[in-house]
Amino acid sequence: MSDRYFDPWTKNTFLTFTVTKFHESFETPFQKIEVFEALDYGMVLALGGVTNVTERDESGYHEMLTHMAMFAHPSPKRVLIIGGGDGGTLREVLRHPEVEEAHLVDIDGEVIRVSRQYFPDVAAALDHPKARVIVDDGVAFVERAVANREQYDLILVDSTDPVDAAVDLFTEGFYRNCAALLGETGILVPQSDSPSFYLDRVARIHELLSSIYKHARLYLGQTLSYPGCVWAFTAASQGIDVGAVPVPEARVAALEPELRVFNADVMRACIALPNYIRRRITGQPGWALPTIADEVGPGTIWRPGTVKEAE
Ligand code: SAM
Repeated sequence: MSDRYFDPWTKNTFLTFTVTKFHESFETPFQKIEVFEALDYGMVLALGGVTNVTERDESGYHEMLTHMAMFAHPSPKRVLIIGGGDGGTLREVLRHPEVEEAHLVDIDGEVIRVSRQYFPDVAAALDHPKARVIVDDGVAFVERAVANREQYDLILVDSTDPVDAAVDLFTEGFYRNCAALLGETGILVPQSDSPSFYLDRVARIHELLSSIYKHARLYLGQTLSYPGCVWAFTAASQGIDVGAVPVPEARVAALEPELRVFNADVMRACIALPNYIRRRITGQPGWALPTIADEVGPGTIWRPGTVKEAE
């Protein structure tokens, strides 16, 4: 008998995994952590009942979150990652030889522990000599860094979606504190949710960042296990529009053999936005996506988490 794992993309639409082995399931003060293996996806890490990392598609998400801003910046030496305790974003950052220091701040040490244990390829960079891994709340860490007049070239926000401990990572106050740490040429990139299921959230992040930074460039990547399989990222900066910077062909080509997704063509293409997204973030009228139902619909069985096939 195999188990199914239901990740609720909405209250009525689920990504269903066929689980071949369940490894861990426990609660931390911040979230429920589950690790299992699934057919087609390999090892899966779910946080708060939501898929965060799968062997099948983690590199697409981590590469898109990281490399757009890394390559757009002329010389990224000091990088801060908020969240990202699995280590995947850190791994991508540390592929760039210019980086001198990368600080990773995740609120939950247990994410770091399970990633080391079950995702060695993703977690390897956590032990890199240029990495400093800190278990702390990213909001508080950034506040202290502002008080201490720290500066970073890049801040990547690899957080869970805006629920529980991650809510304050999507606020104006947090984005303003990041701006203080970045100066003129620094770039902030928060993961910015699902345009096909949660376009309001995507637009809200873009709107907030546009009100603080001169440039706020939305771009898209493929994520096979996140709602809609397309994910938004927003690169915000006072001095650099990541979509207008000429692609640094030689730097990209030097890393390309190591990358599974990102290349110079992807860097040029990922800023192309479908009309329904472009119109929504520029406030123009046009076709709107069907509304996501607030309630469980008639006949739908609400069953997030694991369900035995026989039940
Ligand atoms: N790629 C993922 C996604 O979009 O679902 C995110 C993966 S990463 C593992 C998310 C991390 O954000 C988790 O490890 C979680 O502990 C961390 N996190 C949530 N709130 C946080 C906060 N306030 N400060 C630092 N880390 C936080």
